[in-house]
Amino acid sequence: MRRTKIVATLGPATDAPEMLEQVLKYIDVVRVNFSHGEPEEHQARVEAVRATAARIGRYVAVLGDLQGPKIRVARFANGPIKLAVGDRFTLNMTLSRDAGDQQQVGVDYPQLADDVVAGDTLLLDDGRIQLKVDEVVKPEVRCTVTVGGKLSNNKGINKQGGGLSAAALTEKDKRDLQTAIALKMDYLAVSFPRTGDDMREARALLGEAGKEIGLIAKVERAESVSSDEIMNDLISASEGVMVARGDLGVEIGDAQLIGVQKRLIQRARSLNKVVITATQMMESMISSPLPTRAEVFDVANAVLDGTDAVMLSAETAVGQFPLETVQAMDRLCRGAELERVSTKSNHRMHENFGHINEAVALSAMYAANHLKGLKAIVCMTRTGLTPLLMSRIRSGIPIFAFTSNVKTQHRVALYRGVTTIPFNTVSTDPDALQKAIDELKVRQLVEIGDSVIVTRGGQAGTNTMTIVRIS
Ligand code: PGA
Ligand code: MN
Repeated sequence: MRRTKIVATLGPATDAPEMLEQVLKYIDVVRVNFSHGEPEEHQARVEAVRATAARIGRYVAVLGDLQGPKIRVARFANGPIKLAVGDRFTLNMTLSRDAGDQQQVGVDYPQLADDVVAGDTLLLDDGRIQLKVDEVVKPEVRCTVTVGGKLSNNKGINKQGGGLSAAALTEKDKRDLQTAIALKMDYLAVSFPRTGDDMREARALLGEAGKEIGLIAKVERAESVSSDEIMNDLISASEGVMVARGDLGVEIGDAQLIGVQKRLIQRARSLNKVVITATQMMESMISSPLPTRAEVFDVANAVLDGTDAVMLSAETAVGQFPLETVQAMDRLCRGAELERVSTKSNHRMHENFGHINEAVALSAMYAANHLKGLKAIVCMTRTGLTPLLMSRIRSGIPIFAFTSNVKTQHRVALYRGVTTIPFNTVSTDPDALQKAIDELKVRQLVEIGDSVIVTRGGQAGTNTMTIVRIS
């Protein structure tokens, strides 16, 4: 039995009855995306899903996903344009909606000119194009292109760092929310909520008729992850959250996204809420029958992080291989669930140590990870074995491989968390400990009051561990 649940977005690619039936064998939740299509289409899809699922004996939840205040450029008069780095380009709030050209384009969100200032970075088309705001002369936001590319109709706009003031629930969302009630959807995702208040507003709008609908907060604004309090409030006001990596990644940057995914999953679970990890999980399968290795591991990592569900968007809605995609996701979730971290708490280690070296190395890591004020691990080593063993343990504390062996200095360059420091003495030298501490001080790697772990040994390998408080 697979434990991780699969959410698949419905669309033209899953509409054929045979395809829908095949796909439903592998998925647990269907996502109906209110950003595309009319209420009648959504209704037809929901009815088809319910009838098919009942026929094949599957229990499949329906998740509606509100469009939210996604800000987009309007349209171009003569098709897509190409922007080059250094080009001047203007977002014009009052330009007519079909009159975009090489110099300017309309925007469907008039407040944009109030929400940005000179120096801001705007990201278009999920960050593929970047504009630096030079000046705001209402109704124009005048920019210079800093990352160029093709720009076509209706592409999204995000502001780096967040801070666009649009309310989470638009008039269209309020209408779609009624459709969700009418279709008795199981879940409803709110796009771009800022705080728990947006979720509480959605809850109030659902009212008595929609009280059984579970609300999912899509975490996709920089503001919504800007503090622990805001995150907790957003999660607590909802039945679940979605790590909406598409928009969120554009606003906070891809490097930040990594930690945020992990924290959100962990936080949601500890607050007893469900969490969906979404967007680009199998992106290449839109046009390929096999996932890339990177996608294999993205799905696996979300599973190992503890997500309840993984989500497919365009892959199933408009992709060429919807069935292959859900099959691959099913297979990868099962594969990741075989790993120990999926099922076992990490608080205890069950392995035996093969050698004294290993016992000392791993004891040092255990001490380092749990002793407050511990800033560095010094490992006097000849072969590099001890820092290798140490670096297999997860830690944020730097491991310094002190060695005079040139081969070892190069070898440890590959080890995670290990930095070599040339050290022209042997660990059996009675002054070795003091010399090592002096070396750290000279390099300004430690300060007075810090603690350091030093491991060393003799011919038989590493067999002592000393904890030193720098004075
Ligand atoms: P979307 O939301 O697919 O509706 O944009 C998910 C995301 O932003 O990742
Ligand atoms: Mn989004």
